[in-house]
Amino acid sequence: MILYDCHMHTDYSDDSEEKMEEQVKGSIEKGLKGICITDHMDYEFPDSEKYNLVFEYDVDKNYKEIDELRIRYPEIEILKGIELGLRNEPGVAERTKARYKELLTHRDIDFVIGSTHCLEYSDPYRPEYWAGKTVKEGLRTFFIATLENIRNNDYVDTLGHLDYAARYARKESMEGRVFDGRDEYIEGDNGDVVDEILKFIIDRGIALEINSAGLKYGLGYAHPRGWILKRYKELGGELITVGADAHKRIHIAYAFDEVAKILTDTGFKYYTVYRARKPYMYPID
Ligand SMILES: [Zn+2]
Ligand SMILES: [Zn+2]
Repeated sequence: MILYDCHMHTDYSDDSEEKMEEQVKGSIEKGLKGICITDHMDYEFPDSEKYNLVFEYDVDKNYKEIDELRIRYPEIEILKGIELGLRNEPGVAERTKARYKELLTHRDIDFVIGSTHCLEYSDPYRPEYWAGKTVKEGLRTFFIATLENIRNNDYVDTLGHLDYAARYARKESMEGRVFDGRDEYIEGDNGDVVDEILKFIIDRGIALEINSAGLKYGLGYAHPRGWILKRYKELGGELITVGADAHKRIHIAYAFDEVAKILTDTGFKYYTVYRARKPYMYPID
């Protein structure tokens, strides 16, 4: 069993409307021992005005609310996390890194997820990202950005949803029409870049996240897909953090039984929970 869900959003994130208290109540209802609240901080989010999305929030207020909920719900451990949107575009990379590092020096943070959401001043969620690229090329560009991001931001605790872009893979027809290309994400594709990422995080003691949102989106796999987890294990990786990336109460600990099976089938016996930025290992069974 996996009893901690360490990736969860609340209405402090611009893409969630769920109150923090609802997430806590839902987690208790699910029988979890603990959770980590990891709202989105994505400085310089591209076209934020056009899309009316600003992924920035008041961390002090967020953590104060956690303090209050800790008192109200002592039956569950509530950890203070954050999900940082890492960037590799020239200038943006340096500016966001400086701001993230500044943010982290001031706070009483348990856990930091480093995720790649945006690249090329866009978001793979938007079809424009895939225009002019094959699925393999779009994913390669994404993995290369992830590699650059983690090298540049090696202070994070875990690498979030490593093959996230696969969720939105599109392909272009001869006429330039962009449509679903998710089935073109072939296992092992871009394995050279993925290996570089995995070797780097293992070397730096950064964990790898298994994120069950892929299952929620009907991809048939969690992020990252099985072959990446297997490769991480082969290369000596041991630190796995687990999160459902719930933006709604109903998705807390989504498919955690399946995640536990994926992990044990791959040879992992433990998952990792971070407190005060330090890893603690928990048996999966
Ligand atoms: Zn994310
Ligand atoms: Zn998230």
